[in-house]
Amino acid sequence: MSRISIKPSRYKAILSKKEKISSKVYEARLTLVDPPVMTYCAGHTIMIYIAPGINRSMSLASPPRENHELTLCWDVSPMGPGGQWLLARQVGDPVEFMGPLGVFLYDVESPRKALFVATGTGVAPFKSALEEFLPTEIMKPSVLYFGLRHEEDLFWQDRFVELSSRYSSFVFKPVLSQPRGSWAGRVGHVQDYVFQEESDLQSCDIYLCGNGKMIEDMHARLLAHGVPEQQIKKELFFK
Ligand SMILES: Cc1cc2nc3c(=O)[nH]c(=O)nc-3n(C[C@H](O)[C@H](O)[C@H](O)COP(=O)(O)OP(=O)(O)OC[C@H]3O[C@@H](n4cnc5c(N)ncnc54)[C@H](O)[C@@H]3O)c2cc1C
Repeated sequence: MSRISIKPSRYKAILSKKEKISSKVYEARLTLVDPPVMTYCAGHTIMIYIAPGINRSMSLASPPRENHELTLCWDVSPMGPGGQWLLARQVGDPVEFMGPLGVFLYDVESPRKALFVATGTGVAPFKSALEEFLPTEIMKPSVLYFGLRHEEDLFWQDRFVELSSRYSSFVFKPVLSQPRGSWAGRVGHVQDYVFQEESDLQSCDIYLCGNGKMIEDMHARLLAHGVPEQQIKKELFFK
């Protein structure tokens, strides 16, 4: 079976964890009931049934080897039907979804260095790929640029720091656009740091995930920099 030809199905699960992990993001875990496991790849998404005719897409943040309990990071701040639905759910409640979906998959066959550029919950597919492949030969040298606004918006920072200290081939670079406190790290737009700190963009695969403005801006600048279109991979969460 090819990695990208997994047929999506409908799954029944229960919400097994719901924890606020930043000013606006919840970590949610779905424990599968029927079928009890799902085969998926790093970068796949699921489509959650919120109400008749209303679905919301969520990227899987868990590594594919965790095929019975799936992890999501969910920004509830738009507070539309999706955010309200999650806030109203209790641990133990049933959840139904369709999955796995999408084509924004980590390219396991590429020999190139991977640059992962995320804003907000756009970090989900990168956590999945890093946790799955860093312990293997499959993950090439990689850098995660993680853009958020304020200190209180940061999440999973400890997890990425831990991965970067365990695997020398992985570098973690959080960037805050509007820090309010004594943040001593990078300040500004995440995309500017990619251009300042990467010397050989043409020889990288560049994965962009999160808000539309960042993705559009990065895409145009990368093309202007001579990065081949096929090395730029995009997953837009919202415009
Ligand atoms: C392929 C894909 C994967 C996705 N994966 C995730 C994920 O892993 N985690 C996650 O939190 N969201 C993810 N999203 C976004 C998610 O599907 C919803 O759009 C989002 O949760 C808003 O739903 P809502 O019903 O609360 O608000 P809506 O009523 O749908 O949206 C209200 C408005 O907020 C905008 N908006 C949506 N998301 C944000 C945001 N994060 N910040 C600011 N404005 C926003 C919308 O464009 C819209 O204008 C993904 C979207 C796609 C297309």
